Amino acid sequence: MIIGHLPAGYVVSRIVFPRYEARGVAWKPFLWAGLLGSLAPDFDMLYFHLVDHRRHHHHTYWSHFPIVWACLLALSTVWLYAARVKNRAALAFLFSLNGFIHLILDSIVGDIWWFAPFGSRPFAFFTVAARYKPWWLNFIFHWSFALEIAIILWAAWLWRCNRNLTHLKPSLSSYPQAGCVDANGEMD
Ligand SMILES: [Zn+2]
Repeated sequence: MIIGHLPAGYVVSRIVFPRYEARGVAWKPFLWAGLLGSLAPDFDMLYFHLVDHRRHHHHTYWSHFPIVWACLLALSTVWLYAARVKNRAALAFLFSLNGFIHLILDSIVGDIWWFAPFGSRPFAFFTVAARYKPWWLNFIFHWSFALEIAIILWAAWLWRCNRNLTHLKPSLSSYPQAGCVDANGEMD
């Protein structure tokens, strides 16, 4: 996945948030944690370019190992259920959840070493044929790019419908739901 990670992080944050709002979790830090988690595995691109000088696929770094994100998700889930004050645990949980989802999305057409460091075989749901140069054109002309566009449109719809609502009823701007709400706060 090339451009869908950040909007996917936004969509997941919006879907999960209503569960935690009632427990005193604020939307803005929650969203920041979600967006950061959705991009976090790809921060290894800095190492890839600046230190490794593009010698290894960046999906072979520990930052793209599913076991790392599964452990973070498990630990943050335990923290979330154990904590009396949920704020920080909810942020850690969402960060880890979006990091793990990042790997699932990467795995649609990109190799992810799902059993690393114990196994050395990568897995991708679909293979993109290398027909064009530069390499990213192959992904843009592949059908899976429509999925990325769909995620972007979903995120834009969620963002826009509640943004419009702010003009009608400002108090609702602090209550972002998984879907659109009307001026009375009812779900469409
Ligand atoms: Zn990635």
